Amino acid sequence: MSVAVDAETEHRQAVDAVRRGLAALPADAPVRLRKKTSNLFRFRGGAGGLAVDGLDHVLSVDPVARTADVGGMTTYEDLVAATLPHGLMPLVVPQLKTITLGGAVVGLGIESSSFRDGLPHESVVEADVLTGTGEVLSTREHPDLLAGLPNSYGTLGYALRLRIELAPVRPFVRLRHVRFDDADDVAKAFAEVSTSRSWAGERVDFLDGVVFGADEHYMTVGEMVDTAPYLSDYTGQGIYYRSIQQRDGDYLTIHDYLWRWDTDWFWCSRALGVQHPVVRRLWPARYRRSDVYRRLVALDRRVGLSQSVARRGGAAGVEPIIQDVEVPVDRLPEFLAFFHDEIGISPVWLCPLRQRRTERSGAAQTQRPSTWPLYPLDPDLTYVNVGFWSDAELAPGQAPDHHNRRIEQVLLGMGGHKSLYSTSSYPREEFDALYGGATYGELKARYDPDGRLPDLYTKTVTG
Ligand SMILES: Cc1cc2nc3c(=O)[nH]c(=O)nc-3n(C[C@H](O)[C@H](O)[C@H](O)COP(=O)(O)OP(=O)(O)OC[C@H]3O[C@@H](n4cnc5c(N)ncnc54)[C@H](O)[C@@H]3O)c2cc1C
Repeated sequence: MSVAVDAETEHRQAVDAVRRGLAALPADAPVRLRKKTSNLFRFRGGAGGLAVDGLDHVLSVDPVARTADVGGMTTYEDLVAATLPHGLMPLVVPQLKTITLGGAVVGLGIESSSFRDGLPHESVVEADVLTGTGEVLSTREHPDLLAGLPNSYGTLGYALRLRIELAPVRPFVRLRHVRFDDADDVAKAFAEVSTSRSWAGERVDFLDGVVFGADEHYMTVGEMVDTAPYLSDYTGQGIYYRSIQQRDGDYLTIHDYLWRWDTDWFWCSRALGVQHPVVRRLWPARYRRSDVYRRLVALDRRVGLSQSVARRGGAAGVEPIIQDVEVPVDRLPEFLAFFHDEIGISPVWLCPLRQRRTERSGAAQTQRPSTWPLYPLDPDLTYVNVGFWSDAELAPGQAPDHHNRRIEQVLLGMGGHKSLYSTSSYPREEFDALYGGATYGELKARYDPDGRLPDLYTKTVTG
């Protein structure tokens, strides 16, 4: 792999600057990253911001070995822009453009290739990690660190550079939207496609779905193709999620397919009025992006507008419910029944996932961990990620985290768990049992013995 000398030198200088930055921070205040964008939904201030400038570039793409060397803070928007011209993509591309490679590896990204390729960390060949001790360690020499990164949320160290595998693409994606009235039937279809990797006799490269109501579920299967009879565009007046209800089939460029959800942040731009035809026409196209909407939501949280509107309407307040949870596919109907009954948010995103099975070969060969102790999944099971991002009203007397906690309890009973990018209320014992607490303790003692970085439970639950 040839890495441009300048890129390599700039990267080394950036790494040195981050190491100096860490050394200069007060030893008694837990360190947090200071970066331009975030997709976390824990709007808590952070002391001791560590600047990570200069680590947001793709260093090189090797089209023969099908790998890329990437700065840890590189957004997927930039990463995809660097790989698509080579006819390649990262194996899993999270839907929001400003999610970074490092963030998706430590905070668990997912997308419609996850039924085949698992989660983004499963295609990391190796990484350089700045640990709490101030050293930069290669996971080649420390495979336990690579295994512990997923779901560590920057509490063991910061990934400064990662080598990842890439997969070949074709220029277009043909979509089929298949409706199921019954949740049992969509769960069965997901289970079948996840293992056969085909639907109605045709190959499936991408698989996800949307629930619009208790009797309206869609499975969307995508197949990469070389030609397209027509192309749709959902970055203008058209809205992708609505098209799922309106048409059986569709064609998008691979680029537009990968970013199909970002323009409207799935459907969350609706709450900001952006889907109203008049507002949409006036809203500049460059601001139809998930990071712009997230900044508006952060502002709302700061000024408390939604809370006051709900209180004026007679509710005790609203509870933000921003979660991605994983349930075994055969428990999906049961989970959805509970969800419609008690939470009532719609639409809901569905994304099947299985731990990756294919062996690495060639340049990508390494000691890839076979288990990921901080986010364990049964390798023989298909799970479905259920994503819901909205508010629910609180009744008088209900705790401010009433619904979120209820979801955690229901998941526990179904052998499921959830991502930790948003509100979590797990008691310590439950948390440790779900997220590899014993292994985490060993890794923390090895890679951050003085506790320079926050502890995972403190960072994700108690704040
Ligand atoms: C509404 C919503 C919907 C979402 N939907 C999806 C989805 O559909 N698909 C999906 O893949 N993901 C989704 N996510 C989750 C998202 O992938 C994770 O929150 C991810 O961690 C965000 O990455 P980021 O780069 O924005 O990191 P940040 O938000 O900046 O940071 C996330 C955490 O990772 C740590 N971190 C960041 N970079 C590094 C690094 N290089 N090394 C070590 N630690 C680091 C930070 O300290 C922080 O704790 C969603 C999140 C939200 C809020």
